[in-house]
Order: sequence, then structure tokens, then C-alpha cells
Amino acid sequence: MHIPQEAELLEGIREWVEIETPTGHAPGLNRLMDLAGAQYEAIGANVSRIPGRDGQGDHLSIELPFTGGDRVNMPGILVLCHLDTVHRVGSLERMPFRIDGDCAYGPGICDMKGGAYIAMRALGSLTEAGRQTQLPIRVLLTSDEETGSDTSRDLIEEEGARAAYVLVTEPARSGGKIVTGRRGLGRYTLTAHGRAAHSGTNHAIGRSAIREMARQILAIEDLTDYDRGVTLNVGQIRGGTTDNTVPEYCVAGVDLRVDNMAVYEETDAALRALRPHDPDVSLTLEGGINRPPYRKGPQIQGLFDHAKGLAAEEGWELKDLHTGGGSDASFVAAKVATLDGLGVDGAAAHTDDEHLYVSSLIPRMTLLRRLFETLN
Ligand SMILES: [Zn+2]
Repeated sequence: MHIPQEAELLEGIREWVEIETPTGHAPGLNRLMDLAGAQYEAIGANVSRIPGRDGQGDHLSIELPFTGGDRVNMPGILVLCHLDTVHRVGSLERMPFRIDGDCAYGPGICDMKGGAYIAMRALGSLTEAGRQTQLPIRVLLTSDEETGSDTSRDLIEEEGARAAYVLVTEPARSGGKIVTGRRGLGRYTLTAHGRAAHSGTNHAIGRSAIREMARQILAIEDLTDYDRGVTLNVGQIRGGTTDNTVPEYCVAGVDLRVDNMAVYEETDAALRALRPHDPDVSLTLEGGINRPPYRKGPQIQGLFDHAKGLAAEEGWELKDLHTGGGSDASFVAAKVATLDGLGVDGAAAHTDDEHLYVSSLIPRMTLLRRLFETLN
């Protein structure tokens, strides 16, 4: 069996990183889907393309040539990868692919082009050696994870429903830990609509949407309760037109994280109960839960124990954690045994300093290959 070495992996990852793929940049995403699709075909996979909609890039649904013996129609392994990144077009100029010691830098290299790439190479090493796996394997390469998977969620849930296991190649956490539980994530937009007026000549008849929003922001953030596992972050506001106009509009974007659905329902109700202090300003709230929370139940524990055993055979200790970040794992993990964070280890994802640890490439690729080989 040909096991690619670090230099070969880095060269392949470089090619993927150097195609810029911010979510919603369909030309870039489709170019990378062309490349990845051709590479999957070259290892014998059957690739179908799901055209993008709502301005998003295409998705690929990939079937590996493993029949699992007579088990071709049995629930198999689903590998979830997203190829979109948070880095805008032009980021590559500021943060080009480069290697410095054990760190390889570039936009999206850690989250998650590195992980998606080593999963493909792990599968390729099996097909090229003519090996069979015990279960059929499918891979989804999606293009809109970073903004909530609006156009890929159905596909993920559909494929998840016919899988026995789901493996997600998001980056590892804090020193190589994989993810066996995630907090839930909600997104809201609150809009305040007041009345515009010239601030010099007609101040009294104006109704400031920004003033109203300022009070609402405090009420929203006051719903944060660390002990009960709920946090709210007003992460963006915009409003007004000029300094000398009483602002008619103000819009705030709210990020909600919850540990369980009960606290979500309660917080959602509190947000929907927000009322304006100024009766002449109206409020509209849109949004809700995007990714439900999940915890490590017996199914996930069993799969984790198996993966831990495989890592131990390779001479390292696999650890897990519960995290606050959202991922497509949340769409399937309540029903199907799911491991996330199986991609590369690295740091500073979503920033200009994003990098992966070169020394993590081979161990993580080997763990993925061993999971593909041994799950039954
Ligand atoms: Zn990611």
C-alpha cells in the first residue's frame, strides 16, 4: 500500500488552499469541486455533482468503490467535509501558503481543507491497493458550512439517515482532541424601525432606532447564564445613515449557544418576548436554532472507544472533548454514531495566522484509514 508522505500531502493541500473558496464565492468553490471531483474519480470513486443554489457553490456526493462484500446496500460510513472557508478573496495574497517548521499556513488550511484532503488520500491508499472495506463509504464535499449549511443541510441529513457512522474532518481541538459533543447554535437578526428626522431642525419628531437597539442589546446579552449553559453575543450592529439624521433603522446580529434544547426553548421565548421601550419604534426578530446541541451518548462513546483503540495501536493517545463551535456533525449526531474533529491538528482557524501542524498529517490520515478499514 502506498502511504503518501508529508511532502506529498503538503503539495496536495497547497493546491487546494491556493484556490480561494469563501462561502458564497461560487466560481472558486466550483473550481475546487472540479479538482477534488477529478481526484476522487482518479481513485475510482463515483462522483455526482449537486448544483449550487441561492448563490452558493456546488456540492459533491461521492461513492467509493467499496462494496462491503454483500453489504453494498447496508448503512455505511459517511464522511463529511466542507470546502468553503471564512477567508475572503484576496486573503491568499496576505497569507500565502507557506511552511515554517512544523506549521503550514494558508486560508482554510486547518478548517478544513487539510482534513478533507487527508481523508481523500486515506481512501485513495485503500482503493489503489485494491483493498475492500467492510462497509460502503460515501463522502460529501459541501460548499456552505461556514454560514450555516443552508443549501447542504438536506443533503447531509439525507445521507446521514442511511449511514451507520459519520466521520467529520473538522480540525482537532486543543492538542489533537476529537469532538464527541457540541453546544447548539442559534442565529437571530433583530431589526428596530423608528422614524427618521433631521437632527438639527426636527429632532423631537424623530424616533431613534439606534437608541432603542442599545437598550435591547443589554437585555439580550443579560440572558447569558454560564451556569445554565447559555451565552448570547450581539456580534454585529449597523444602523443610521448620517450623523445628522435621527436613525430610522438599526439591525443587530445575535449568536446564541446552548447546552440543551430546554434552555434553547426558554431563551428563544425570551427573545421573542422583547418589546420596544419606545412605543413608536417597532422590533422584528428573525431566526432561531441552526445546529442543535448533542452530547456523547452510548453510540458515540462506542465509536470513540474504537477510535481510541486504533490510535493506541499506532502508539498515541486519542482524547475527546465537548465544544462550543458549530459543525455539520450537529445535524446527524443525535441519531447516528458520529465523530468530529478527525481532521488535522492546528491552530488559529478563521484568522490570518491559521495553520496546521505538519506532524499531525500522517497520524490523523492513518487514524482515518484505520477507521475506514475496521468499522463494521
Ligand atoms: Zn469547519
